[in-house]
Amino acid sequence: MKTPAEARKILAALERHHPDADTELVHGNAFELLVATILSAQSTDRRVNEVTPALFRRYPDARVLAKADASDLETLIHSTGFFRQKARALLGMAQALVAEHRGEVPASMDALTALPGVGRKTANVVLGHALGVPGLPVDRHVLRVTNRLGLVHSDDPVTVEEELGRLIPKAKWTQASDTFILHGRRICTPTPQCRICFARPLCDYAHR
Ligand code: SF4
Repeated sequence: MKTPAEARKILAALERHHPDADTELVHGNAFELLVATILSAQSTDRRVNEVTPALFRRYPDARVLAKADASDLETLIHSTGFFRQKARALLGMAQALVAEHRGEVPASMDALTALPGVGRKTANVVLGHALGVPGLPVDRHVLRVTNRLGLVHSDDPVTVEEELGRLIPKAKWTQASDTFILHGRRICTPTPQCRICFARPLCDYAHR
């Protein structure tokens, strides 16, 4: 088990690789980030960023999106995959925002995860990047990287979120998650490039 001091050193090493880690989903406000994050499931940020400019022009806020024509919405988001399911989630989410939150995105985990199509990972992304509330999104990259490093020992995202939350100061949660994600995409890929990794001296996987 790593200590908070070791976790700090590991993060510092990873931040040398990814000094400007941030979400790669282009957005102008919490509503847009919520929509983009829902669309990013089983897709890539690049693909989502290709789709969202036209989507946000047509549906700039929850009130307009709540009244969207489902087939029009499906056409606009088609290339992100699972478009019927995602269109249903977007419509349900927007309608719930209008009905229960005056069309605004609520800044609480409980309220966000009560919205259709919104799980903990999506809620944490929006809280941390658009609402000023520290959030620790755990995706497949975070799972892989943090288990290899020996920071956590679980495949369960909620357990990993709790374990990382104990090791990393709350104010750093969002940036830490962004850093792990970029590390998983660029260096600690399924076949990891340990040779060039600054965290190698502190990594369990590299010393098996
Ligand atoms: S040393 Fe290898 S396994 Fe460990 S974090 Fe770096 S790339 Fe991943």
